[in-house]
Amino acid sequence: MEHADQQGRDGGLPKSNRKGLMMYFTPRDFFAVGFVLGILAAPASGQDADPELVEQARAFAEPRSMATFERQCTVTPARFPGLGEGVAATPKQLFDNLYYVGRTDVGAWVIETSDGLALIDTLYTPEDAEQIIVPGIRALGLDPDSLRVVFVTHFHRDHSGGAPYFSDRGVRVMLSEADWAQLGGPPDAESIARDGQTVMIGGTPITIVLTPGHTPGAISLVFPVFENGERHLAAVMELSPRGGVDVHREAVAGLEHLADYAESVGVDVGLHPHEMIFDPTARDFIMSDAARPAGSPNPLVIGADSVQRFADMVVTCWKARIVTMEAKE
Ligand SMILES: [Zn+2]
Repeated sequence: MEHADQQGRDGGLPKSNRKGLMMYFTPRDFFAVGFVLGILAAPASGQDADPELVEQARAFAEPRSMATFERQCTVTPARFPGLGEGVAATPKQLFDNLYYVGRTDVGAWVIETSDGLALIDTLYTPEDAEQIIVPGIRALGLDPDSLRVVFVTHFHRDHSGGAPYFSDRGVRVMLSEADWAQLGGPPDAESIARDGQTVMIGGTPITIVLTPGHTPGAISLVFPVFENGERHLAAVMELSPRGGVDVHREAVAGLEHLADYAESVGVDVGLHPHEMIFDPTARDFIMSDAARPAGSPNPLVIGADSVQRFADMVVTCWKARIVTMEAKE
């Protein structure tokens, strides 16, 4: 494949300069459209992390990020109802060059380039790939045989399970080295996703940012999307630290690292592998069969300031969790 892989000069993006230590918290693999509703309807059991930091985090919250605030500022959030119980979502064009081919409980996205397609995440199983992703790509008028590369955000089954369907057909599948280790190791060096690496497909740069926490080698992906020809930058972010204080610290550092990069390049679209639990407005748009009214703004473009506020909120929530977890140690 003709792609130019470039890496940061010292093997990674610059380290974050954001103030202080941080930590993180986490989601799991969840989903289900009803899930945010479930959270909002549930008794107020959340925000049990350090109260002072929770209030600082709340100051960064916006209406669309409240569901995230509730979860991330809770030390042990409830499992998402409906996880693993989703169905195929209606395939949908989200931007001129970005499409949703996922389920209602976990996402998969296709980036269209001038020289083929890139896929982000592969759902649960090879059957999902064959029966949801591939038909979805066709339904959108794209050619699944033009798939050039598959990025898997992390090794958990709901993201990686469909990957063998594509690797068996000769498509390069990329995960971080740490997450490949959980799947028996990478098939070759070309399949290792590295921090700061930009994979170029048909002139479309897709940049990998290592954001550990949910798994040891979870990655986020940054790439351009176009809206009637206007360029925006999207980030698919994995936000769910799983573990104790050390994992949360690593997750804080990872999200600050991503936020610094996002700020430097102007990311103004934030997407999540489990959109249904993060942003009900984005979820409703992605899952809706209805076409967007002509001329209406794309609801996925939240703006660079909101992307930064979101990251600041989540980082502060994770710090609040760390304070609480440390107090219990
Ligand atoms: Zn996961």
